[in-house]
Amino acid sequence: MSHSVPDSHCVFCKIVRGEIPSARVLETAHAVAFLDINPLNPGHTILVSRSHHAHLGELPEAIAAHAGSLLPRLCRAVKAATGAEGFNVIINNGPVAGQTIHHCHWHIVPRFANDSIRWPWPQGKYSGDELSQMKSRIEQELENAVRAE
Ligand code: AMP
Ligand code: ZN
Repeated sequence: MSHSVPDSHCVFCKIVRGEIPSARVLETAHAVAFLDINPLNPGHTILVSRSHHAHLGELPEAIAAHAGSLLPRLCRAVKAATGAEGFNVIINNGPVAGQTIHHCHWHIVPRFANDSIRWPWPQGKYSGDELSQMKSRIEQELENAVRAE
């Protein structure tokens, strides 16, 4: 697992280290889950790795795999505890995507009929060969990443 340096200004590193209080619901050697202090709905839970990584793209695969392995159990517990009918699992990556705390985290948001959260986001369409060009560009980037390893 990763041994990244904690960020001394990071709120989630402070929570992981127990320097500021949190309502923890799950802890492992590599991850911590706690209630979001300003929930979108009651029971809104945050899952973080203990190690500091700014966003999903910087997460080591082993940490991502570990956090991912906790999600089904954590989501079932949040859903059962809140009586939610469904839930969203969201990661905001970068300020432009709404990330305000730059320590990669999963939001688990319980959902209720007629709650105030609105989905879907506005969707677009591809025209011409935009879709196939985009497919090629992403495939090329994935190949570059494999070659760089
Ligand atoms: P994001 O906008 O994706 O970076 O989400 C950051 C989340 O962290 C927000 O939903 C905040 O309500 C939550 N948050 C900020 N400070 C705390 C804290 N001290 N304890 C628990 N959750 C927090
Ligand atoms: Zn951090």
